[in-house]
Amino acid sequence: MVHWSSGFPGAELVLVAMAFIWGAILGSFVNVVIHRLPRGQSVVTHGSRCPACGASIRPRDNVPILGWLLLGGRCRDCGAAISAGYPAIEAGCGAIAAIIAAAELSGFGSPLLAASRPGIDRLLSGDWRIALAWAIHTVIPVAMLAWNLTAALAGTAATEASRRHPTHDGCDAAALVAAAVIALVTAAPAVGPPGFLIDGRAPEALRGWQATFVASCLGVVAGRFAGAVTGAGGDRCGLATFGAAAGWQAVVVVTIVTMGVRLLVAAMRPQGLIGRVVAAAAPAVAATAFFAAWLPIAEAWGRCWRVLLPG
Ligand SMILES: [Zn+2]
Repeated sequence: MVHWSSGFPGAELVLVAMAFIWGAILGSFVNVVIHRLPRGQSVVTHGSRCPACGASIRPRDNVPILGWLLLGGRCRDCGAAISAGYPAIEAGCGAIAAIIAAAELSGFGSPLLAASRPGIDRLLSGDWRIALAWAIHTVIPVAMLAWNLTAALAGTAATEASRRHPTHDGCDAAALVAAAVIALVTAAPAVGPPGFLIDGRAPEALRGWQATFVASCLGVVAGRFAGAVTGAGGDRCGLATFGAAAGWQAVVVVTIVTMGVRLLVAAMRPQGLIGRVVAAAAPAVAATAFFAAWLPIAEAWGRCWRVLLPG
């Protein structure tokens, strides 16, 4: 099932490393979102500043992960400690992008079920859909992480500014993101083989772009409902967006995993921040695992279809 390219050795490793760097760059934007949204600040204007002394952070110190390491976790101007949470989130987002790239290049996580060639050969021969799948499948867990951590950490950001401005978690953008994802997953099979949603091994009658559109819309509805059930801030928009990209069946799996992790966290009662962060990150980690293990999950779902709709 897993098959690597017959091309030059190490090509996949280079692409996976590039994916990690791209993910870490996304992660540094996630840091900006988590820090600024609860304070009612813009996420696009103004450069990064030291939270202690307000000095602008120089571009070379702002390089994801490396900047923090080279500074020894302290501000260059005032020496105040900079939270290890910043490089941790950058590394986490890098890992999401790299894991999904490795899974999709090996074929293990490929949503393009009709294709039989290894991912890298398809990529090198100009099949843009594998790059599109990777981009969608990376951005969604990263966005889920951003929404959930913003909601989970908003309470700790009780600054003067957050009391002046109404706190919000960026969920107002979720409808737009979900609509864009529905359009993408609907358009992709319309111009090529089906398989962008988890029911890609469904019977012929349930495939094609109309079926994809319906499954994607059902994914949004399932995600909104699941988010209301789990009750954690950020789930409502995160699970709806995930449902748009993977279908309603995927929402069921990820919601069950998320609730299991949160029950475990609640039972273990960790002190302070760690438990809140683990509980908040659970849906994003589950979504990453889901995208990375796409092929076996799709095959299992294909067997379900054959049981549900024999003949
Ligand atoms: Zn400073």
